[in-house]
Amino acid sequence: MGSGRSVRIGGVQFGDGAPVRVESMLKSRLDDTESCLKELAELREAGCELVRVAFPSEDLAPSLTELVSRAEVPLMADIHFNHKLALTAMECGCGSIRINPGNMSGAEGLMSVLDAAKSNGVVIRIGANGGSLSGRQLDACGGDRALALVLAVEEQLVPLLKRGFEEVIISAKSSSVNETVLANTILSQRYPYPLHIGITEAGAGMDGAVKSAAGLGILLSQGIGDTMRVSLTGDSRTEVDVAYMIQRSIGTRKRGVNIISCPGCGRRRVDVANLERRTREILSGVGNLPDGLDVAVMGCEVNGPKEAASADIGIAGTQNGFVMFKKGVAIETGGIEALDRALAVRLKELSTA
Ligand code: SF4
Repeated sequence: MGSGRSVRIGGVQFGDGAPVRVESMLKSRLDDTESCLKELAELREAGCELVRVAFPSEDLAPSLTELVSRAEVPLMADIHFNHKLALTAMECGCGSIRINPGNMSGAEGLMSVLDAAKSNGVVIRIGANGGSLSGRQLDACGGDRALALVLAVEEQLVPLLKRGFEEVIISAKSSSVNETVLANTILSQRYPYPLHIGITEAGAGMDGAVKSAAGLGILLSQGIGDTMRVSLTGDSRTEVDVAYMIQRSIGTRKRGVNIISCPGCGRRRVDVANLERRTREILSGVGNLPDGLDVAVMGCEVNGPKEAASADIGIAGTQNGFVMFKKGVAIETGGIEALDRALAVRLKELSTA
């Protein structure tokens, strides 16, 4: 579903039927070009389709220009307060900028940004964060933070629309799952513009991944959201991996292999956790497997093949070793010592290399 309108950044479509895009933000500082390029290459390889980069000072314009010219993934300059930074980012060749029109220096400043964006075909992302809601906005909404987020987005959006600027992506983010879900649900009903969704300050590791999955999962399952960022403390590549895991779970994107593994129980014939780890290692060594491939790792032959009957390829422990199955039908058996090799051979058969 998603939004009814679309924008394009660096040839990538956002909204109106395009796949839900996966974003991240550079953690490297802009003045360290080599680190930025390395991080960008890793993000691109992981499937990132838009990378936000903090642009806090005019001094960094040469670095931004170099990054734009060398990056193989579209960039969005993240700007606060100073409209001149937005103008400079566009001069540097950035195809998109993220601004807060409310903290841009006056109506004239905003107008010059919109004029430049129009003539350069630049997309503007606007949006509100739970952390920056004002007392006035909260009071106006009776203290309801989700409604205040919607109001804050509208206060940024209206000045752009009044000036006839519609090449926008909008966002309403909070560290609260419930606030984020409600605010985005309302925005998706009111406006046709592409929505960037995410849970801010979600945390690190499993905490952040689960919080993001809870919020973004609800939204995506209702067809809300055109581009997403999983904000995690730590490695930016993990943000992209988790975003695709969430999309694979919901069924909106299929990038990568989907591993199905049972929790193991008193019937298990193998150490399922160890087998799942080895399977991941084997998968990473094979490469070029079709997106959306289901690979099952099950602890026993009694229930395993049935429980994972839809898997493209699966293995289950048996009394004497393993049984390998395809769509629930046994295709090979062997001793446990032969399992890794047998699995690698079968997976290579599925590889598109
Ligand atoms: S597949 Fe077998 S070992 Fe795994 S949870 Fe089911 S019954 Fe238990």
